Amino acid sequence: MHGTPLNGEQMALHVGGYRISLDAKESEANLNFVSHAHSDHTGGVRKNSEILCSEITRDLLSTRVRYELKMVGTPGGVKLLNAGHMLGSKQLYVESDALGAVVYTGDYQMQMSPVAEGIEIKQADTLIIDSTYPFPNVVFEEKAEVITAMQHYIRSKMDIGSTLFGAYAMGKAQELIKICNDMGVTPIVDQPIARVSEVYSRHGVKLDYVERNLHEGIVYPDFSVPVWIVSMHRMDMVRANVAALGKRIFTGLATGFAMTQRFNTDVQFALSDHADFNQAVEYIEACRPRRIYTRGSGKDTFARNLKAAGYNAGQLGGHTEFAQLLAEEV
Ligand SMILES: [Zn+2]
Repeated sequence: MHGTPLNGEQMALHVGGYRISLDAKESEANLNFVSHAHSDHTGGVRKNSEILCSEITRDLLSTRVRYELKMVGTPGGVKLLNAGHMLGSKQLYVESDALGAVVYTGDYQMQMSPVAEGIEIKQADTLIIDSTYPFPNVVFEEKAEVITAMQHYIRSKMDIGSTLFGAYAMGKAQELIKICNDMGVTPIVDQPIARVSEVYSRHGVKLDYVERNLHEGIVYPDFSVPVWIVSMHRMDMVRANVAALGKRIFTGLATGFAMTQRFNTDVQFALSDHADFNQAVEYIEACRPRRIYTRGSGKDTFARNLKAAGYNAGQLGGHTEFAQLLAEEV
């Protein structure tokens, strides 16, 4: 038995000689599972740390770190399953004599992303599941409907100006580029987005875009392009400069949080790369776990709402049974 203190966010699974951390810095881990390249899941990525992730995630992380990443092969008894969230995103699947099969989802989505692999779901005894959208009353529309609405908006503004999207450089920006490409539009993007998009293209997701170094002053000779996609913090700068050239510019955001928040843009679309509550239930029905542990910022609410729906759920860190998960050799 290992006498590890129980801590919901700092946790690890034991398999073979490994202690595997899950998307977070965990002081005693000797192998760090990184489900995908979003920065809130990369606490285990440090110089000289050994990481378990997909090759695509490794390549995406390499656009941000200066040191060489030490990637290890998948240990016996462990599988990586597609999570559907962004290109290269994986779930961790571990088979154990003591606990049966354990799955950790990280961020995941049930709907098919235009720029990611579809999700894989395996049955498991224990499920550790992400809690990004814990409320049953937040219901996403079909992604295809949201995309059609976005393309309609872009088209409706093309004759009178440009549309400027702010986006996370990793994942969301590539989805927006693909949505534009599918309607015959080649957007302008900034350098961080282009760096990530190049990795996507290298791994088979072909994207057409024009890269602009937005540090190089203010002259955008091709300001008549219909769509700009830039990192969030550049939105105001691009809006001001394009407007200064006498061109109308409409600002937009595409995020699932558009369901619950109003942002300071002309338009917002609830384009999410996560599962909503109903999709989480759909996942659980396919996975058929005997026990569920919720993880992430909404974990308390999510566990409560899953319990109310009849599932054996507890939040990670608040459940004594989880001590076993930490303590036993899996
Ligand atoms: Zn993510």
